[in-house]
Amino acid sequence: HVTTGDTAATGAAVKAADRAHVFHSWSAQALIDPLAVAGAEGSYFWDYDGHRYLDFASQLVNTNIGHQHPKVVAAIQEQAARLCTLAPGFAVDVRSEAARLIAERTPGDLDKVFFTNGGAEAVENAVRMARLHTGRQKVLSTYRSYHGATAAAINLTGDPRRWPSDTAAAGVVHFWGPFLYRSPFHAATEAEECERALAHLADTIAFEGPATIAAIILESVPGTAGIMIPPAGYLAGVRELCDRHGIVFILDEVMSGFGRTGKWFAAQHWDVTPDLITFAKGVNSGYVPLGGVAISAAIAETFATRPYPGGLTYSGHPLACAAAVATINTMEEEGVVEHAAHLGENVIGPALAEIAERHPSVGEVRGLGAFWALELVRDEETREPLVPYNAAGADNAPMAEFAAACKASGLWPFVNMNRTHVVPPCNITEAEAKEGLALLDEALTVADRHTTSA
Ligand code: PLP
Repeated sequence: HVTTGDTAATGAAVKAADRAHVFHSWSAQALIDPLAVAGAEGSYFWDYDGHRYLDFASQLVNTNIGHQHPKVVAAIQEQAARLCTLAPGFAVDVRSEAARLIAERTPGDLDKVFFTNGGAEAVENAVRMARLHTGRQKVLSTYRSYHGATAAAINLTGDPRRWPSDTAAAGVVHFWGPFLYRSPFHAATEAEECERALAHLADTIAFEGPATIAAIILESVPGTAGIMIPPAGYLAGVRELCDRHGIVFILDEVMSGFGRTGKWFAAQHWDVTPDLITFAKGVNSGYVPLGGVAISAAIAETFATRPYPGGLTYSGHPLACAAAVATINTMEEEGVVEHAAHLGENVIGPALAEIAERHPSVGEVRGLGAFWALELVRDEETREPLVPYNAAGADNAPMAEFAAACKASGLWPFVNMNRTHVVPPCNITEAEAKEGLALLDEALTVADRHTTSA
């Protein structure tokens, strides 16, 4: 366990100060008890009382190269000393370099980059670009998805976080994407799931009216909603439907991009090029807020002589761009993308397969690279989720107990609904990954107690 040095602050004082004035996202303010964090390095962070946590959540799946990477910290410090801020209308060396590095890694002709401060704003702007480019209004999005918490983005989201705010959902239509384990199409094989999901989308397009649809937005691999790897042929099939009907294809790679799946962008596993890619999070490991939209030549051309009506004071902020340049260069120098692929194939994937064998609470494991989900169930046969959909309070006790067991052992888990995700930094060492997997293995015995076989 790491000590916090000679800081005078105690965890209790930090927490009290937080509770006095900080209003937390997604929370009932009186019911939360945020952990006071004293510091972080690499794959770990620690509190003021000497407890260290191995971060199997990468915060919010964004610290793709871990905490406090010295090369990125130095780049931010150098940029701060040189030029902290400049409005988006100027040409800035680090912004141009970040855009170049990103454009070189996106597939196809997505060679222009519009910068934002995060993922939701990237989605807002991608949708606006698609609407202006096509002159159409509707946007199709999947259930079991997350696209952010701002107006268009939350309405596109296909999970309960949308419900309280979906009165402004004009023009948004949800459809089902492929997910064989809980197949909306009652399919028995991946090939059948793919074929039926594409037929369902083709029907949705036909009945909504192809000439009214501006865009289809998908996460290449849906993240928060459960890391469902699309069957081979699905994304290519969507691409084909978009081409046939002049619909803009947006892939949201906010979570799946920048090495997370063992490629720069997840769509590259299936050689698919969308018209727009939204990104954020891993682009600079979350050190300074940054997101953006990578734009195809055809859509960029729409705004060659016609102004694009959108912008943000902090678009392409120099500190954020300096962090992105340093992060991408570091990922290249240290082979982080290849390392994530190796972890998925040789460390995390095989270990989780064994864990699934041992634990009746693990219904399925699925993933790629450093991007894995365990679907926890009450019954392996019926696949009844360990907690009901959108469970809260006492209904959610089995997952809460599981999460508490992880934390008590020094593992910080990602937990959502009836799932836990294994999403550590992409540069986590093999030894650290194995340590975390062993702690996860042990904590799952708590979930096992809530299964029908207990
Ligand atoms: N899109 C996806 C796929 C995400 O996972 C997220 C955040 O988790 C967002 C968009 C929203 O990003 P942000 O929270 O940076 O606005």
